[in-house]
Amino acid sequence: MRLSIISMLVFAVTASAQQPTISWPIHSTTRPQPPIVDPGPAPPMAPAPSDAIVLFGGRDLAQWRDEKGGAARWKAENGYVEVVPGTGSLVSARGFGDCQLHVEWATPAPASGEGQERGNSGVFLMGLYEVQVLDSYKNITYPDGQAAALFGQYPPLVNASRPPGEWQSYDIAFHRPRFDAQGKLLAPARVTVFHNGILVQDDVPLTGPTAFQKRPPYRVTPDRLPISLQDHEFPVRFRNIWVRDLEAAPSDSGVAHKSSGGGGHRGDGG
Ligand code: MG
Repeated sequence: MRLSIISMLVFAVTASAQQPTISWPIHSTTRPQPPIVDPGPAPPMAPAPSDAIVLFGGRDLAQWRDEKGGAARWKAENGYVEVVPGTGSLVSARGFGDCQLHVEWATPAPASGEGQERGNSGVFLMGLYEVQVLDSYKNITYPDGQAAALFGQYPPLVNASRPPGEWQSYDIAFHRPRFDAQGKLLAPARVTVFHNGILVQDDVPLTGPTAFQKRPPYRVTPDRLPISLQDHEFPVRFRNIWVRDLEAAPSDSGVAHKSSGGGGHRGDGG
């Protein structure tokens, strides 16, 4: 009996050690504002690497669906895709777990609105974990909700925002949460983000899925889920979206990807 109590205690400590906690209240306005860092002008658009899956290359939305699995309803034109307010999120046709994701985005210019109501969108890893998109150029909001925040959890290390209308980039390294066969959390999701080339999230452990005004616990999910882009009622633009699948089966040779002809690889979609 005593042994089992001890083992239960050990189990409890082990289990709780996997669950990250954050001492700041969610959306705290007294949490320090990240220092501003000028990232300089946007560089020329760089091509996707050869092993990347291009989710949006500038022309069509073949790699995307609406929230109900129907045809994507955002506006693709002039090399970018723009949120059509009220149509819902854009959801990738494929699912991804561990991945490297590149996204470029621009908030509306001239800017209008304040705080969260200014160029709000978001990049949701596995459709659950949001890297916030917001016009955070001379626009104060709660730090865990500004651009490049892991929404409701971690403000960016610095505010590396460019002005509204200018192209900005996220380079994200994501590791999905791990669960055992009983659904116990073995390892939280972890995220690293570079905003306009500047490190703003350094391998932070998420407390669970993104939510507004709360930090819900993890729920067991499949290893792969679609990436989604948020319709928050603002005509935010995206371009040059590509992903490297870090859990893809290793190929027999280095040329497998180039010869596969699989839809969505580099070169598809323009
Ligand atoms: Mg958002």
